[in-house]
Amino acid sequence: KERTFSIIKPDATRRNLTGEINAVIEKAGLRIVAQKRVKWTKAQAQEFYAEHKERPFFKELVTFMTSEPIVLQVLEGEDAVAKYREIMGATDPAEAKRGTIRKKFALSKGENSVHGSDSTKSASREIKMNFIAKEIA
Ligand code: ATP
Ligand code: MG
Repeated sequence: KERTFSIIKPDATRRNLTGEINAVIEKAGLRIVAQKRVKWTKAQAQEFYAEHKERPFFKELVTFMTSEPIVLQVLEGEDAVAKYREIMGATDPAEAKRGTIRKKFALSKGENSVHGSDSTKSASREIKMNFIAKEIA
């Protein structure tokens, strides 16, 4: 089975939405096979989002992702990467489809409640960066 990496972002943890987001994930048939709540350092956020370091919103993104604790997850299921992207919805909640996590909960393009890996290659990098093997079961 395929695995993907998920983050419940600060705008969502702050509003106590972890349980509601997990309900959407589980109803879609994805299994939460690892989960932990952490607060990232600036260096961790910069490394995670390194591919965006030249983008105009990079500094804002790092400040946001280190503003409050976040929930890191590994999700498992058939076509987990694509399935999670589908139930997350578009980056901008104004463009997200009805029923998606971002349509329901996101506040803006930046404060958009969740992250999900964009490919199996990214998923593998992001999982390795945040979990050790024995934390996943
Ligand atoms: P994610 O990678 O979090 O799943 P995404 O792949 O839909 O989201 P990316 O283009 O990879 O979007 O951007 C990564 C993250 O950077 C977004 O989720 C969002 O939090 C932030 N971001 C993207 N565009 C903007 C913007 N224009 N203004 C502020 N923040 C932004
Ligand atoms: Mg992305």
